Amino acid sequence: MSLVRDGIPASPGIVIGPARVLRWEVPRVPHTGTITSEQIDGEVRRLLDACEWAKDRIREIQRRAAETMGEVEAQIFEPQLLMLEDADLVQGTIDYIRGNHMTAERAFEFRVLEWESAMSHTSHPMVLDRLNDLADVQTRVLRRLLGLPDAAAAARTEGKFVLVAREMTPSLTVQLDPDAVMGIATDLGTRTSHSSILARSLDLPSVVSLGDLSELVKDGDEVILDGRAGRVVINPSEEEKETYRQRDFQIREWEQELVLLAHLEPVTRDGVRVELRSNIDLPGEAEAARAHGADGVGLYRTEFLVVGRGSPPSEDEQFRAYRQVADVFPDAPVVIRTFDLGGDKFPAFLHMQPEENPFLGWRAIRVCLDEPAIFRTQLRALLRARASTSGDLRIMIPMVNEVSEVLATRAHLAECLAELRAEGKDVPESFQLGAMIETPAAALTAPELARHVDFFSIGTNDLVQYTLAVDRGNSRLAKLYNPFHPAVVRLLHRIAGAGRDAGIEVSVCGEVAANPLGAFMLIGMRVGSLSVGPSALAEIKKVIRSVHHADAALAVEEALAAGTPAEVVQVLSAHLGQVLDLAKLTSAWNLSGQA
Ligand code: PEP
Ligand code: MG
Repeated sequence: MSLVRDGIPASPGIVIGPARVLRWEVPRVPHTGTITSEQIDGEVRRLLDACEWAKDRIREIQRRAAETMGEVEAQIFEPQLLMLEDADLVQGTIDYIRGNHMTAERAFEFRVLEWESAMSHTSHPMVLDRLNDLADVQTRVLRRLLGLPDAAAAARTEGKFVLVAREMTPSLTVQLDPDAVMGIATDLGTRTSHSSILARSLDLPSVVSLGDLSELVKDGDEVILDGRAGRVVINPSEEEKETYRQRDFQIREWEQELVLLAHLEPVTRDGVRVELRSNIDLPGEAEAARAHGADGVGLYRTEFLVVGRGSPPSEDEQFRAYRQVADVFPDAPVVIRTFDLGGDKFPAFLHMQPEENPFLGWRAIRVCLDEPAIFRTQLRALLRARASTSGDLRIMIPMVNEVSEVLATRAHLAECLAELRAEGKDVPESFQLGAMIETPAAALTAPELARHVDFFSIGTNDLVQYTLAVDRGNSRLAKLYNPFHPAVVRLLHRIAGAGRDAGIEVSVCGEVAANPLGAFMLIGMRVGSLSVGPSALAEIKKVIRSVHHADAALAVEEALAAGTPAEVVQVLSAHLGQVLDLAKLTSAWNLSGQA
């Protein structure tokens, strides 16, 4: 009998193959008793050597990551280097060796355990991310001290396999042999965790948050991994394998068909243009977005410039990253979002206190306004990047809840402009400032907000979670996280109307725009622009080019009268199904569920 586990889709693609369970455990340290006073110096030396060796290894991995994936991605190893330089960890261990006559490995194990227990009294994602890094550091140093092979070697094996693990660390992910690993399935993790981002960069299908998968699967068990649907099937029947092979075949065929659309205009059959832009997380993704037919960037998430960093990126480093993206699109809008920190993204240098409800806490524009030094460095970099290109680089602020936040941002911008002028630097003659509409509060006060910004971009990923009170990262609630809930549909309609009344552009950059039914609904609401991940661009262009705006508007009218999510989906499917074979859409399996 096969067993099916659903998790969070982290990187698309379907693979079928034998599982290799990576029990990447911290090695057990043997109890060898205490050491003599004469042995102390030798043990301290061994510890320092192991730490140096670990740092060298990490730097090497970092170099490799920089070459294969880019400078920004490589920065995620910084916290591990910082830990190995942290006096509290290293000197604390030495104190145990000297004071308690412990071996280097026992003392290190002990000190790390203390760090761990101090950190693990929380479900805070920032701390959990750091725990992950700590485990990576611990394993590496202990393996060295115990004379064991490096952890990554454990992930190397003969033949191709689907890697199953409790959790992947970034360093393991980059060390995987891409010729051997077909896909990655993990018990923990979220779509935005570093390893998921790396899996997408490496084009490795991946599903995360699969609960107890690594306990259920044994080495050699055959598994199907569907990174688009977020599903793993253990020991599938021949029939199931055939179904997934067919699905894979259909998706590939469909993708080939879609490639041809990349350079066609995103216009509905009745002549309504819907701008189609791309969401990117890393500057290097801009090229792929363009190749897939994006007409600009609708959302560049700049957090990945800072997450996992020990110190904030300098103004020049940011300037270069923003220019890199702007240069790919010299004649289309490039919307750069200011740091959306907090929630599930935490840089080490902010020293954020653990919070009970990080998504309802110190997050996004709230953090920026409270940390003017960080915010203004970013605003200055953005203004300089805007001034240095002829392109349409726009600034967008996340999770706006009220007008005062926009006004405060404008005040910072005015001061940054004055500073730059005084320093003799180029400043832009004009630029657009937009607000992300991601909370019910912003949605309901959209008419007021619209008076103070140049555009809206609706972040449905957050708007859905805040409207429905359903945590977007909780796979247990995935069924309840429904962007087609009538409450969401009505809010979206209101925001689109408020933007239109004020004469400003309304864009949608949440995942619902990447869902064919969602895109159809948004076209019907007369949303002017959709921004989706590079892999969804072609499919959404196909939707735009297949439908009549007038029909989509009719479907929206009916959807607004619907009383349940199922009715909304039914209404939209009935209309879209008349012009597109819904079964053929690659996201079809997800049409009625999560966006
Ligand atoms: C959103 O909330 O829809 C969004 C696009 O932003 P993020 O997913 O980065 O929160
Ligand atoms: Mg958001």
